[in-house]
Amino acid sequence: MPELLCPVCGGVLAQGEKVEHCPSGHSFDRAKSGYVNLLVARQSGAQHGDDKEMVRARRAFLDGGWYALLRDALCSAAVRHAPAEGTVDLLDAGCGECYYTAAVAAALRAAGKRVSAAGADISRDALRWGGKRAPDLRLAVASVFRLPVAAESCDILLNVFAPFAGEEYCRVLRRGGMLLHVSPDEMHLWELKKAVYQTPYRNDAAVPVQEGLSLLGEERIGTVLHLTRHEDIANLFQMTPYVHKTGLADAARLDALDALDVTAAFVLRAYRRD
Ligand SMILES: [Zn+2]
Repeated sequence: MPELLCPVCGGVLAQGEKVEHCPSGHSFDRAKSGYVNLLVARQSGAQHGDDKEMVRARRAFLDGGWYALLRDALCSAAVRHAPAEGTVDLLDAGCGECYYTAAVAAALRAAGKRVSAAGADISRDALRWGGKRAPDLRLAVASVFRLPVAAESCDILLNVFAPFAGEEYCRVLRRGGMLLHVSPDEMHLWELKKAVYQTPYRNDAAVPVQEGLSLLGEERIGTVLHLTRHEDIANLFQMTPYVHKTGLADAARLDALDALDVTAAFVLRAYRRD
């Protein structure tokens, strides 16, 4: 499985009841909800990653099934690209509250695979919910730029709406292993941005590139969401990065919205580790 490694010395972490420790005696607390915090002292301290409110909004929105289309596409791609034999070592880099991680692990199992799955995210608030959603996953608070797993230990790496840490993804994937990367397409949430901002911008549609990872295919997944409750619209907005950059006047326009047809557009890219 993608064993978790000690962030201090790189030794394999053994799971105790409340702590995980490496052979050299470094130990890390495991939270009640199951995740282990592997950020070393100089990295922790300040709040990292998505905050409570953002996590709550995203969880509510995803559980409403609005992005089921993307979830299902990701599941099919994982099943299609899984190795034919042996246990599939799956790691989700930037797993959030594990909506996609749990679904992909379940889809692989349904396809007859043995799966060993882990997730890493910088947000403790997200992992708290991840542990509840998917108690069978190994979860760690860690940066995607410094994943707590060994080199060449993963068969499938998921990277959904999280930073593209190409070099690190290259390191942790086995040769022939696959990176499934999802990013918002140019027009993703366009109508929402148009409703809130005077000058909305399109998303950056640049294709992430990394030496050692070959782009095998690109799938565009899109639909129009017919949102008819203010709550769903507010949650959708809350889970975006725009929320922290919105002034009061713009926020007021959002408050007035009770119905919205909005484009959801994603790009799913499959990269193979050379
Ligand atoms: Zn250690």
